[in-house]
This record gives sequence, structure tokens and C-alpha cells, in this order.
Amino acid sequence: MPHKEAHPPRSAGFTYDIPAGAVALVTGGSRGIGRAIALKLAALGYDVWLNYMSRDESARETQSAIIDMGRECSLLKFDVSDSEGVSRNLETLLEKTTPHVLVNNAGVIRDGILALMSFDDWKRVVQVTLDGFFLVTQMVLQGMLLERRGRIVNIASTSGQTGVPGQTNYAAAKAGLIGATRALAAEVARRGILVNVVAPGFIATEMTEGAQIDRVLPRIPLQRLGTVDDVAGAVAFLCSKESSYITGQVVACNGGLYM
Ligand code: NDP
Repeated sequence: MPHKEAHPPRSAGFTYDIPAGAVALVTGGSRGIGRAIALKLAALGYDVWLNYMSRDESARETQSAIIDMGRECSLLKFDVSDSEGVSRNLETLLEKTTPHVLVNNAGVIRDGILALMSFDDWKRVVQVTLDGFFLVTQMVLQGMLLERRGRIVNIASTSGQTGVPGQTNYAAAKAGLIGATRALAAEVARRGILVNVVAPGFIATEMTEGAQIDRVLPRIPLQRLGTVDDVAGAVAFLCSKESSYITGQVVACNGGLYM
């Protein structure tokens, strides 16, 4: 009996078709989950347009890490919910280049029970999440529609799937983002543009620093908080060739917290 030949090693990684100079725009990319997504996409071969709101030093650190990988990184400091700021920062860039990937990641929390929540706290969370999605996506989409390609990944939350007490504003905004993703996915599928959500559970970042982790952990089947790289990995999958038949979906990245 001849010996069975060992299979030659095959790459188990996802595959990408990234032309030189292809750009990924990541909002809220200075730190936390957005930074990990920006670094991951840069490692795959994208140049990055890195949006952030206020923390110049964090943004510059992320930019340096991307440049060290041999990729370009432009810093775009603006509030995603400010229509004038969004246009001013993106208009000229978009005349020359249409990003291949847009990740709407910028988000904020202003937790509190509804009975005591200020209208400002309600509005701020909804504005950053939903106005931010609308304003940035509408601008980037024009070029994607013409070029008939693009991947849009919106970062929602388990809170938008299940509702969490103390987060009516955040849960409403993230559930809204999921609805908007599905509608947009149906609108633009014929133009070759895929739109999906990644919904993280509890991820160790500044946003969750105040959370009572010992109360949360017993509810997570995988018995740990998620890492920013867990979320970045899900985003990278949604930008790969292997996910080219997936659109309008919510990819939960939550350790089994919500199934
Ligand atoms: P962080 O608070 O660590 O980082 C937030 C990022 O968003 C920063 O880059 C910040 O910029 C930027 N940002 C905030 N507001 C605006 C704005 N108006 N315009 C532009 N940029 C803005 O958050 P995370 O990394 O934890 O969260 C990232 C995303 O993931 C958010 O959408 C969040 O809702 C979501 N998420 C997070 C979870 C978690 O457990 N951490 C769970 C589920 C979802 P700057 O540094 O300049 O302030």
C-alpha cells in the first residue's frame, strides 16, 4: 500500500483583493475597538483614513503604528454627527478616492435610567450613532455606487439586540443602526456593496471601565470579556472574499452572551 501523501500546507487565513492604495475609513479610530480595526485593516493592506473626535495623542499613536506597517494613514478630526464637519473633512478627499471599506465605529454612552435621563443625554447618543452613520455613509456611498463595490461595517452592540436597563438611549441608537444596516444592504446590493453589522458584547475598553465586571462575567458562556482584536477579527472577515455572500446581517461578537 502506498503511503498516503501529506497534504501540502494551505493558508487557513481569509483572502482579500486589495488594490494598491485602497483605503479603509474607520470612524472613532483613535483608541479602543476602532483602533484595533484600523490596525487590522492596515495589516491586511489598506491605507487608513482615521477619524476621531478629540484625543490627538491617541490618534497620532494609532497613525504611527499604521505607518510602521508601511501603510498610509490620514488623521481626520471631526465629530461624525456634525454635518458641516463631515463634509469639510471628507469632500476633497472623496473627489479623488472612494474608500473600499467604511467602518462606522464611533460611539458614546450616556447611561442612566429613562425616568431620570436628560434630553441631552438621549440626543447625544442617538446623534453620534445614527446621525454619524447617516452623514458619513451618505458621502462615502456616492463613490461606492459609481464604482459598484464597497464593504460597510457598522458597529452596533448586544444592547441594541436585547435592551439593557440604563441604556434606553444606547439600545435605541444601536437597534436603529441595525435597522438602517438592513435597509441599506437591500438598497445597494445590486451595486455590489455589502453592508453588515458587528454587534460586540462586553469588550475591554475605556467604555466598559466603569462596568461591574463580576456581575457580567457569569452571564458570558465563554467566561471572559471580549478583546478589541476579537471585534477587529469579525470586521476583517466581513471585508474578506469569503464573506462576499453575506449582507444585511448582524455578526454577534459577544462570547455567547446573547444567542
Ligand atoms: P471608546 O470610548 O474606547 O472609543 C470611542 C472612539 O470613538 C474614540 O476614538 C473617540 O474619539 C471616538 N468618538 C466618540 N465620539 C465621536 C464622535 N462624535 N465623532 C467621531 N469620533 C467619536 O469606545 P469603544 O472602542 O469601546 O467602542 C467603539 C464602538 O464599539 C462604539 O460604537 C461602541 O458603542 C461599540 N461597542 C463597544 C462595546 C464595548 O464593550 N466596549 C460593546 C458594544 C459596542 P476620541 O478618542 O477622540 O475621543
